[in-house]
Amino acid sequence: MRVAIQGTHGSFSQAAARRRWPDHETIPCREAADVVAAVRTGAAEAGCLPIENSLIGSVTTTYDLLEEAFGDGTLRLTHEILYPVHHTIMGLPGASLEGIRRVLSHPVALGQCRRWLGEHLPDVELVSAWDTAGSAELVAQEGNPALAAIAARHAADAHGLVPLAERIEDDPTNQTRFLTFTRADAPALPAGSAGSTRYKTSLIVLIDHKPGMLALTLQAFGVRGVNLMALQSRPERSAPWTYRFYVDIDGSAADPRVAEALEEVGALAAHVVVLGSYEAWVEGSRLSAPPPTPAHHTRKPDIPLVDRRRVPEGSRVSVGAVTFGGEEPVLIAGPCSVESEAMILETARAVADAGGDMLRGGAYKPRTSPYDFQGLGVKGLRYLADARERTGLPVVTEVLSWEEVAVVGHFADMLQIGARNMQNFTLLRAASRSGKPILLKRGAGATIEEWLMAAEYILAEGNPNVVLCERGIRTFERATRHTLDLNAVALLLERTHLPVIVDPSHAAGVRSLVTPLSLGSLAVGACGLIVEVHPDPAKAMSDGAQSLDIPMFAELARQVHPERPARARVALV
Ligand code: PEP
Ligand code: MN
Repeated sequence: MRVAIQGTHGSFSQAAARRRWPDHETIPCREAADVVAAVRTGAAEAGCLPIENSLIGSVTTTYDLLEEAFGDGTLRLTHEILYPVHHTIMGLPGASLEGIRRVLSHPVALGQCRRWLGEHLPDVELVSAWDTAGSAELVAQEGNPALAAIAARHAADAHGLVPLAERIEDDPTNQTRFLTFTRADAPALPAGSAGSTRYKTSLIVLIDHKPGMLALTLQAFGVRGVNLMALQSRPERSAPWTYRFYVDIDGSAADPRVAEALEEVGALAAHVVVLGSYEAWVEGSRLSAPPPTPAHHTRKPDIPLVDRRRVPEGSRVSVGAVTFGGEEPVLIAGPCSVESEAMILETARAVADAGGDMLRGGAYKPRTSPYDFQGLGVKGLRYLADARERTGLPVVTEVLSWEEVAVVGHFADMLQIGARNMQNFTLLRAASRSGKPILLKRGAGATIEEWLMAAEYILAEGNPNVVLCERGIRTFERATRHTLDLNAVALLLERTHLPVIVDPSHAAGVRSLVTPLSLGSLAVGACGLIVEVHPDPAKAMSDGAQSLDIPMFAELARQVHPERPARARVALV
C-alpha cells in the first residue's frame, strides 16, 4: 500500500503514517491538496493529513480542504493517528545557537515552539517553510551556519545537520492528530499497528441562520447519548460571515443510534457532508466507553423488565448514601417550590435536623395556570445544590421536558418525573439516558399497568434505577385533592421489584391528613415517603395548604424513624 503524505522524508506526517503502517511506502507531496489528488488519481491507496495539534489547535488548511475533497463522496476517512511531536532545532556542523539569525520550519511547528524561541532566540527571523523536514533539507543545501531548522530529531541525521537543542516544544505532551483517507469505493485498508474497535464519525454541517438552529442540530446527538467530541467552525468563503461546522462524534454510523442522529441532522441542517466513520486511535485518547445499544433497537424481553419475577427479593435503588428498598424507610421532604436561597436552606436544615433523608423542591414547576409561579429554573437548581452541600441531603427535583434533562441532571441527585409527564415517552427516554436515579410519579389518571409500562421505558433504555411514587389518582371523590391508591402500593409489591414510595401531600391536599396517610402507606409496604414542608406554609408560593410546617414535619420524622435520634446539624457554614 502507498500512503501519500504532506511533507518529505523525515516529516511528522511520514512518521505518523509509519506509526500505523510501519511497512508501507509513503509518497511525499508538497501540499495537502496534492495528497488528496494522489488518492483520487490512484497514485496512492491512502492519504494522511494532520488535522489538529494539542498545543495550537486546528490545522486549518486541512479543515478547509476537507469539504472540497470529500463533498462529492469520492473519499472517506479511515483511521485516526495520534503522534507525539518533539522538536529539535538543528544547524550545520559547527553552528551554535548564538550564531543563528534565521529559523526555518513549518508554521505549525514554529507555533509549537514559540515560548522556547522567545526565551532563547528572541531576535531571530522566523521563516515559514512548506515542511519541517523540508526546512532541514534547505538549511543543509544553503550551507549557511546562521540558518537553523526546526524538525524531528531524525531529520538532522537524514540531512547531515547537528541538533542545537532538543525537545523545544512548549509542552512535553505535544501531539498531533492525523486523519487518513481512501477512495470511498476502495477495499478496507489494513488495520496496521494500532487496530481498535472504537470509532469516530466526522461530518461537516451548514446551518441556516435561525435562533437555536445549531443547538437543535447538535442535540440530535446529545439526546441519543452520542458524545460530541469536537466542534470547529470555519468561514464559508463564498458567503462572508457564514460558517461551516465540523463535528466529531464518538461512534460509527453503523451504530443505529448514530445513524438515527445523522438522519435527524440531515433533516435539520441546510447541508451535510459525512466525511466518514473511522477507527479512532485509542492509546492515550479520551474516548469514553461506547454507549449501550438503545432499547428501542432491541427486541422485547419475554418478561417485562419491571416484573417482580426478575428480582424476587426486590430491587434497591441508591441515591448517594440513601437506599430505597433497604431496611429503613426513606423520608424525602422539602417545599413544593424552591422560592429563594434563604428559604430552601432554612427548610433543608430543618429536614436534616429532624432526621429526613433527602431534600425535595421544585425548580421547574408544572402549574395548571400559566400565570402561576413557574419556579426559579436554573437559579432554583443552584440553591438546591448549595443546600445539599451544606446539609449533606441528596436532592430530588422535577424535570419537565427532555431539553432540560441535562441541566437538571447536572445539579440533582435524582430526577423526578411528575404526574403530568408520566407518559411523556421522549422525556422518559432522555431521563433514562442521563444515568441518574429516577422518581417516577403516577399520572393522576394512569392505570397501574400504564404506570409500569412508563417505568419499563426507563429500564429498557438502560437505566435500572427507578423508584415508583403513588401520589393519588383522580376519582369521583372531591373531598380531598386526589384519592390515595393504597391498593396500588400493595399490588405493586407483588407485580414489580421496583421500590415504591408514597406522596401523601399531593394526594390529600390538606396538611392534617399527611401524617396519617404517611403511616398508612408505610404499613401497606411503601419503602419511603415524599412530603411537602414549608417554614411558613401560609406564605407558600405553591401547595401551601398541604405543606407541613417544621414542627409537624419533625413529629412525622420521629414516627417514621423512631429509632433515630434527631440528627445534629451536619454543617452550618
Ligand atoms: C410535586 O411534587 O411538586 C408535584 C408537582 O407532584 P405531582 O407531579 O405528583 O403533581
Ligand atoms: Mn407540590
